[in-house]
Amino acid sequence: MPFRDIVGQHHAIVLLREAVRAGRMAHAYLFVGPAGVGRRSLALAFAQFLNCERPDGDGCGVCRACRRIAEGNHPDVHLLDIEARRFLIEPPKDYKAREIPIEQIRALRQDASYPPYEGRAKVYIVADAERLSPGAANSLLKVLEEPPPAVSIILIAESTTPLPATLLSRCQVVRCSSIPSREIERTLTEQHGVTAGRARILAALSAGRMARALALAQSGDLLEARERFLSLLADLERAGPVARLDAAEQLTRERERLPERLADLLEIAAWWYRDLAVWKETQDPALLINLDKAEEVARLSAALSWEDLRRRIEAVDYARDSLDRNVQPRLLLESLFFKIAPAAAPA
Ligand SMILES: [Zn+2]
Repeated sequence: MPFRDIVGQHHAIVLLREAVRAGRMAHAYLFVGPAGVGRRSLALAFAQFLNCERPDGDGCGVCRACRRIAEGNHPDVHLLDIEARRFLIEPPKDYKAREIPIEQIRALRQDASYPPYEGRAKVYIVADAERLSPGAANSLLKVLEEPPPAVSIILIAESTTPLPATLLSRCQVVRCSSIPSREIERTLTEQHGVTAGRARILAALSAGRMARALALAQSGDLLEARERFLSLLADLERAGPVARLDAAEQLTRERERLPERLADLLEIAAWWYRDLAVWKETQDPALLINLDKAEEVARLSAALSWEDLRRRIEAVDYARDSLDRNVQPRLLLESLFFKIAPAAAPA
């Protein structure tokens, strides 16, 4: 996708575009930011920008070069992504993809020593650069110290910390930030046909990551889980102690991806109680994240006192904290579910 279709990352795009136009392009870039904010799309858009056949040169997305880059078969644009099993040379059969081996970088160096086959610039994109083996990082450093002409290397990482300082000093760092949820929401409704109510909550739950918002919109699993969990939270308002213990037991019975699933549920609960409080304060539906459940928000918010709400918000905060500290999931939920009860009426 060309620059114009990238969601967010305006600052990074301006920086890249201006550097090239001013003839100050770096030989190597490090795109740093959380997974899912579009670092790889940005790298591919940059490759299109550098190789587009149209005269205006902003990466048109439709010329032969742009299309081949998008399809992953342009002879001058290469992606090394060991998670996705995209290699520069075929790895040995028993290769476990834990780190980027030196052989891949040797292949990069060799290929980079030839001029572009048909484009203006050769581009190498290295995903998960934190996973370069020490040998691979050293080998890459040699290319960066004597960069061949018309070669651009883009490393992608979540943070600069795990990378060797020698490598860092040779790269221009480009920060890729989380995308504002309004922008994700708009993209979901305008470009992917998601309804407004769903787009609002998906944007909130995606935490600034477009890729996650799209995955959530396509799978629908999380929205179903949200239905069940919100209905459980409503039931807990009246439930007895045995029902509270049962609910915690049932939610933790399935062990697969349990911490991730719990993190999602707690996120859902956090937005839910936040909405109840926002409604209590403002009665303004435009401020709700759970826009599709405005009626329920209004009803529950009226039924709970400020003190009830404060306790629920704190209880969810505490549970999320406990999850980060690896507290046993079942204990964490039991504790949460016992706190979601109206305060005993004063005697
Ligand atoms: Zn083009």
